[in-house]
Amino acid sequence: MKRSALYIHIPFCLDICSYCDFCKFYYDDNYANKYLESLDREVSSFYKKDLMKSIYIGGGTPSCLSPTNLERLFSITKKIKLLPQYEFTFECNIKDISEELLKILKANRVNRISIGIETINEKFYEFLNRYNDKKEIKTKIALVKKYFTNINIDLMYGFPNESIDDLKKDLDFFKELDVPHISIYSLIIEENTKLFIQKIKPLAEEIESDMYYYIIKYLKELGYVHYEISNFSKEGYQSIHNLTYWNNEEYYGFGLSSGGYVDGIRYTNTRSLNNYLKGNYRLEEEKINLHTNMENEMILGLRKIEGVNKKHFLKKFCSNVEDIFDIIEMINENWLQDKDGYISIVEDKLYLSNHILVNFIGGVNE
Ligand code: SF4
Repeated sequence: MKRSALYIHIPFCLDICSYCDFCKFYYDDNYANKYLESLDREVSSFYKKDLMKSIYIGGGTPSCLSPTNLERLFSITKKIKLLPQYEFTFECNIKDISEELLKILKANRVNRISIGIETINEKFYEFLNRYNDKKEIKTKIALVKKYFTNINIDLMYGFPNESIDDLKKDLDFFKELDVPHISIYSLIIEENTKLFIQKIKPLAEEIESDMYYYIIKYLKELGYVHYEISNFSKEGYQSIHNLTYWNNEEYYGFGLSSGGYVDGIRYTNTRSLNNYLKGNYRLEEEKINLHTNMENEMILGLRKIEGVNKKHFLKKFCSNVEDIFDIIEMINENWLQDKDGYISIVEDKLYLSNHILVNFIGGVNE
């Protein structure tokens, strides 16, 4: 199977958010330098010179790299071949955005910027250990628009004691920013985070569910297409990179803690910086058998609002999806629907998607 996307993880941040369980460290120029040397070796060893439709540089905070280390990073990405219609995303922290940074990105084939704003509600800043300045956000987004049209911003919701009114203020602000792509995340209290240690209780599910549907309605009214459980875009701005994952296609993952899917093997890289610097990149590998591949096709594909294309499933696996999984039962229970050649999750069950998707694990009919 052909790989068509490539992810690179940059595990450094200037500040650490209280909810974050990503693999990251405080930025240190010397470590960043060594990290990029090891990343270069990893890419050189595993990238098979195939043409990519997407590169995504995430983290961590890739934008916190010094200009010299950015140069090193782009000397690595220069080796990656791209199709003429490519997407190249670079994650930025709003504070790092400058004319100089944007020029460097533009000169190095980047054509999509993703910015984690999360909230502009001051009462949550200390709780999240994430501080925003509304004026700065507006100025910086205007600056990004001078260089790029394809921009994503992240919205977070579901903070303890957050009300729909609070959420509306964030959405009103996001509306003013007028960017073509918005990703939303509810706050999850993950183990190994400050919030977990502080024993913070998550928001009640009913309130969080109301918030989720409030966001959908709000963004749809603004003309955004809800194309994946947590993603919204203006026409033509769907994330090519993330669609690779949801379409169960192969991709490379490079860098600390990255995951990839290459030649039928799903792998995860080490989270140990020490091991990574020594060149011990891989932590786990799993050969994907036919059953697991069909399960992944459903679990990933049903994240898309349009759902799983039945003809495509038949072509890929030489079997009808209804013969492989107990779809009919889930349709009768009004969890799924069979519409226009696609199996998809019913809209009012999207919030419960995890409970639905879990049915596909080990769900292949023998
Ligand atoms: S959420 Fe992003 S910026 Fe915050 S610590 Fe995690 S990776 Fe760094």
